[in-house]
Amino acid sequence: MSGDGPAPALSLVVPVYNEEDNVAPLHAELGRIASDLARSYEIVFVNDGSRDRTLRRLEALAAADPHLRIVDLDGNFGEAAALSAGFAHARGAVIVTLDGDGQNDPADIPRLLARLEDGFDVVSGRRVERREAFVSRVLPSRIANWLIARATGVPVYDCGCGLKVYRREVVAGAQLPRGMNRFLPAILGVDPARVAEVPVQDRPRGGGRSHYGLERVFIVCRDLVALPLLVRRRPRSRALARALGTTGAALAGVGVVALVSALVRPATRGMALAGALATLCVAVTGRAIGHNLDRFVTAQEEGVFRVRRVV
Ligand code: UDP
Ligand code: MG
Repeated sequence: MSGDGPAPALSLVVPVYNEEDNVAPLHAELGRIASDLARSYEIVFVNDGSRDRTLRRLEALAAADPHLRIVDLDGNFGEAAALSAGFAHARGAVIVTLDGDGQNDPADIPRLLARLEDGFDVVSGRRVERREAFVSRVLPSRIANWLIARATGVPVYDCGCGLKVYRREVVAGAQLPRGMNRFLPAILGVDPARVAEVPVQDRPRGGGRSHYGLERVFIVCRDLVALPLLVRRRPRSRALARALGTTGAALAGVGVVALVSALVRPATRGMALAGALATLCVAVTGRAIGHNLDRFVTAQEEGVFRVRRVV
């Protein structure tokens, strides 16, 4: 943690990667909302290795706004790492996160804060009317969210909504491996009974374009299988993770050999094929679980971001 003066009541944390057209309008909106709230606040922009003029624009804004702090990362570590850096540097008792592209509406923040005060540890925004393509973005996200809620028991049906409010204890020390921001807040190991959702606006992106394509559907499926273990057991052993991964890889080899031999021997094809496919399924699942446990434990041990400087 760094920063001068007493800790503010509220930290507004925004991860940004190549958002040069969006940072100034968002900063202005955040300033207006935060001053209406009548509590002390800071705005923390985390620059995740932007290659455009995002950093330069943030520096110009910071020169005129003492509430604004910039955590400038030493490269592009990904949204999960940028959020982790924001959590590590935010000093507020309550931490609000939102996307830097203007899709989340800062005008929703007061309602999320009011819900937190009803006795919750996390309040997550739920975009009721999505402004994105249905088939390529909204539908996969609905399916993924349903699966995530089933796997974790945490009643959040829009994990991908960047607008969320946390009590600082919940995010303290969080080191999220790449992509695991999609499992927030469950991935933090929160008590499901202390998590609430509040409907929020979804606006069209300001400038620029999304940083993700359809590949995220595959990645979410791969990571989902490890989620119940990550959330409920909080693994600590790298050796166990690696053993699972290696066993998965070895089993995959056995599965491929079995598959090939089933295909070349027509007499026993049915049973052998089923056996080979079952082996491959177990292998792929084991490998995916091992890979994710390994990433999770490594992230906790080594951290997921490097800071160049804090302005
Ligand atoms: N982001 C980031 N690092 C990255 C990719 C994205 O900090 O490597 C930020 C991005 O600038 C935005 C937020 O994460 O503020 C969400 O990204 P995006 O809007 O591309 O995601 P989508 O809304 O399409 O899910
Ligand atoms: Mg976006």
